[in-house]
Amino acid sequence: MNLMLMGLPGAGKGTQAEKIVDKFPIAHISTGDMFRAAISNGTELGKLAKSFIDKGQLVPDEVTEGLVKERLQEPDTETGYMLDGFPRTIAQAEALETIGSELKKPLDAVINIDVDPAILGARLSARYICKTCGATYNKLSHNPKVEGTCDRCGGHEFFQRDDDKPETVQNRLKVNIEMNTPLLDFYADRKLLFTVNGDQDIDAVFAEIESILDGLNK
Ligand code: ADP
Ligand code: AMP
Repeated sequence: MNLMLMGLPGAGKGTQAEKIVDKFPIAHISTGDMFRAAISNGTELGKLAKSFIDKGQLVPDEVTEGLVKERLQEPDTETGYMLDGFPRTIAQAEALETIGSELKKPLDAVINIDVDPAILGARLSARYICKTCGATYNKLSHNPKVEGTCDRCGGHEFFQRDDDKPETVQNRLKVNIEMNTPLLDFYADRKLLFTVNGDQDIDAVFAEIESILDGLNK
């Protein structure tokens, strides 16, 4: 099963991705996570990506496409993959079609998590992440069961993403809203698009996604 998760920053892609890979044996590929790993490892890719990410801009298509093409050749994608945060432009979507057919791993479905953009600024400013395992929490809506202790790995250290600070958030949302509509049309035309209501609590959103994926797996 080869999937792509779509949604504006803060829509809940990472949160739902964690739940999907707990249930379905597919590789979670987040280009944002890959860039953040490259930045913390101080690689050339990381330095380049940081110069765009810090301004709330997209990393250039050719850089991002190369990264995804390499990642899709790793063995853990043989049982399927779930792209999170890629493609974000029509050029990237077209590149993914080429990569998918070259590697014989075309997309089976695109799950669009639809959320009113007006609430996303507040959601992003309240996001915090476990330093050890990357699990995502939210000061307003989703704290660990035991305060200060990650539900998934028991870690005690958390961080806020630099690009979740208010000065970057608004530009990220603007850039992504402009890109989103043509991409939705692109996948609707190809009959790959499924939209879920992301304005519900986390488990209710997952229940909608699960019923779509169970349908695909039949
Ligand atoms: P994305 O990967 O799409 O940027 P995240 O999964 O990181 O989004 O979610 C953004 C923030 O919103 C996180 O702090 C997360 O805990 C919280 N969140 C995710 N889904 C929901 C939801 N359905 N309702 C309320 N908060 C949510
Ligand atoms: P995310 O974690 O998906 O919110 O991504 C964080 C940042 O990484 C984005 O704001 C972009 O600067 C960059 N990025 C992630 N995925 C892509 C992509 N597919 N194309 C271009 N830039 C990306």
